[in-house]
Amino acid sequence: MFNLILFGPPGSGKGTQSEKLISKYGFKHLSTGDLLRSEIANQTKLGLEAKSFMDAGQLVPDAVVIGMVDAAINSNKGVYGFLFDGFPRTKAQAVALDHLLASHEEKIDLVLALDVPEDELLQRMIGRAKTSGRSDDANPEVQKNRIAVYKNETLAVADHYSQFDRVVTLNGLGSIDDIFSSLSKEIDARGF
Ligand code: ADP
Repeated sequence: MFNLILFGPPGSGKGTQSEKLISKYGFKHLSTGDLLRSEIANQTKLGLEAKSFMDAGQLVPDAVVIGMVDAAINSNKGVYGFLFDGFPRTKAQAVALDHLLASHEEKIDLVLALDVPEDELLQRMIGRAKTSGRSDDANPEVQKNRIAVYKNETLAVADHYSQFDRVVTLNGLGSIDDIFSSLSKEIDARGF
């Protein structure tokens, strides 16, 4: 297997690039944001619990998200590789993910981090709010919260994987196709 984390702040283009990477390489996409939004759409207990955190731009509790990822990994045995998008978002989630994968004799092979300046992130979230219908995109206070949470809690995930030399940071500014080709180059270089 080849397991990839697409890493970056909210609005850095993870969702857009994930779609392209999935169609090129056949990864199984595992986006915790998408999984949570589908729980909300189905009005499950988990969805109802998660919604207030998401609407405030805060993180859903680790145990909830880790449980969801555990279930998704177990129900996708035999896939070529996972593309984790929006997960892990805390050091505790990274450690939990390493354990989950180790229990299947797997690991994270590569972390591709998209680097985008903060003013550009805010512009993109404002743009996305017009079409996404996402309540957490529309409110400037919530946008700022999500960026602060990223700095305070999520950056530690990159530090965690840097110790194992598995992080490559790429420029997240430019055309969608140019960014996609720089991501693809890193994956190809590892023989996937
Ligand atoms: P974006 O790509 O803009 O960062 P996501 O769709 O990944 O947005 O996530 C939307 C919201 O869902 C987050 O602000 C957070 O509340 C919740 N969420 C998603 N993934 C996680 C996670 N791994 N841990 C905790 N909360 C999460």
